[in-house]
Amino acid sequence: MRLLTKGEMHEYMTYCIELAKQAEGIIPRPHVGAVVLAEDGEIIGEGYKSFIDGTKFTIHAEKMAIENTEDSDKKPFHLITTLEPCIRKSKNQLFSSSCELIVERGIKNVIFGLNDNSATVYNGKGMRFLRKNGIDVFNYEGLSSQIEEELMGRLLV
Ligand SMILES: [Zn+2]
Repeated sequence: MRLLTKGEMHEYMTYCIELAKQAEGIIPRPHVGAVVLAEDGEIIGEGYKSFIDGTKFTIHAEKMAIENTEDSDKKPFHLITTLEPCIRKSKNQLFSSSCELIVERGIKNVIFGLNDNSATVYNGKGMRFLRKNGIDVFNYEGLSSQIEEELMGRLLV
């Protein structure tokens, strides 16, 4: 399979950071952005962590991006996200965890920008779950300090 170059990862991760910022003033941090690409690198889905309209339930960036791919004829291949994807549902989340959705949708390659230190990742359990399902997982650290500074933290709206 064709893997992304560091330069491509940097470019897509930069775009994910911009997507994440669309939630500024809408939802408390951390803000998260994600894109799904076809194997040829075309963006076929994008999303950011937000509220489901009119509710206090959150939709994760990965879920929104994966849902958007349903309009494309191309198959999802890469998923790029600013934050390590969750493996456990939080109490205000209605759907499967992001890692389960990634497996269900047949994504082959996951690139994330920053390790999550919250309980939703269970010390890397999600990463092990993805790898066990044959998915390539890579932590692209080239923008991790920018992600930490601009999207994480406990600033509330
Ligand atoms: Zn998630």
